[in-house]
Amino acid sequence: MCIFCKIVNGEIPNNTVHENDNFLAFHDLHPKAPIHILIIPKIHVDCFQDVSPETMSGLTTFAQEVATKVGVDQTGYRLITNNGDDGGQEVYHLHFHLLGGGKLKWGHLHEDAHMSI
Ligand code: 5GP
Ligand code: ZN
Repeated sequence: MCIFCKIVNGEIPNNTVHENDNFLAFHDLHPKAPIHILIIPKIHVDCFQDVSPETMSGLTTFAQEVATKVGVDQTGYRLITNNGDDGGQEVYHLHFHLLGGGKLKWGHLHEDAHMSI
């Protein structure tokens, strides 16, 4: 069982922000912004590439509720998912990072990578 399934099952403790029957939001263990929350479906889906539109539909509403609950719905936030190896995905249970609570910078390519057009 993957680490986030264990969190869903309560085998690993988490700092829950918001929850319903299908989704869970909890604080990231190593926050990269003043607010850094992980949003996951309770069913196991490896990554964004595998997720159904039905799950994404529910996740959209849920993520909006999370943003409102933590008070960044008006100030702004970033919602991202890392997909696969090049995307930097480390945990293979679909999750969206909700980042906010301050101005975020933009920049992605790894220092070892090179642009090729
Ligand atoms: P990824 O790189 O896969 O997009 O992001 C995985 C995220 O999960 C990382 O930001 C990491 O800090 C977080 N993480 C990994 N293990 C745990 C855990 O056991 N609990 C919590 N709350 N976050 C975790
Ligand atoms: Zn899982």
